[in-house]
Amino acid sequence: MPGTLYVVPTPIGNLEDITLRAVRVLREEVQLIACEDTRQTQKLLDHYGIRKPLLSYHEHNELARVPEILSSLRGGESVALVSDAGTPLVSDPGYRIVTAAVAEGVTVIPLPGASAALTALAGSGLPSNEFWFIGFLPSKASARRQILSQIAGHSGTVITYETPHRILETLAEMSELLKERPVALARELTKLYEEFVRGTAAEIREHLIRNQSVRGEMTLVIGAMEVHETDLDAAAEIARLEEQGMARMDAIKNVAKRMGLPKREVYRLAEAQGSNPPGRRRDSDRTRP
Ligand code: SAM
Repeated sequence: MPGTLYVVPTPIGNLEDITLRAVRVLREEVQLIACEDTRQTQKLLDHYGIRKPLLSYHEHNELARVPEILSSLRGGESVALVSDAGTPLVSDPGYRIVTAAVAEGVTVIPLPGASAALTALAGSGLPSNEFWFIGFLPSKASARRQILSQIAGHSGTVITYETPHRILETLAEMSELLKERPVALARELTKLYEEFVRGTAAEIREHLIRNQSVRGEMTLVIGAMEVHETDLDAAAEIARLEEQGMARMDAIKNVAKRMGLPKREVYRLAEAQGSNPPGRRRDSDRTRP
């Protein structure tokens, strides 16, 4: 009977961020661990007192290693696939062996666990119901601008990985193309100097320079674009909200936010369109004699 291919997430910094199940699988269920950097994985295994043969499996030998791992699986050995940090296959090697195993009918068991993208999203304070994960932005300037332009036209939350040596350039491009879009930079997640910097791309860039913190591992979460209801009939909407029982100033505030306009502008619009400004009573407000 063929063995099982386990996909095992490992911590992204804090060594406690590994599940009990992942430790048990590495310790008891597999005969071989395929990993990116054997020295890195050895450190993790040493921490948990696990002794297992390691096989290097990284982006430069992925294709060549597939037949070797498949042959172990066919021979009845179970194999764990890990990357240096986080979840394998998420901007990390693994796709080729998982695809090959699936094609061969080998059982693939992925374990849930740490990933920088979701950890950053969870702490970003930005809309999280749906998001577009794009991995690393391209290193070539033209390709990067192209994808940033696509992000500018995408209304939802976007998550990207970035490296310290490119972060200032990326943030400068983002501030040009994404303007005031809210962004959260998650730096050194789960580690001693974990930091979230929230603001516009320009503000985050300034913070990094001011605090000399252009280092460490970084994930960017770009917040959803605020879509304004520009063609809303301000007066009618204020009247509708008031009829539903909302106080007039709250109704103005509500409409101003939805239209992306200052409150006084909505107040002026409402007046011009015939709605009563606060303090003045509408006919319908008057009590009958
Ligand atoms: N597979 C990993 C995962 O599931 O998170 C991602 C691997 S990718 C090669 C490495 C990138 O993930 C880093 O360059 C950084 O952008 C992001 N990253 C990894 N660890 C991080 C951390 N502790 N804090 C913030 N970002 C991190």
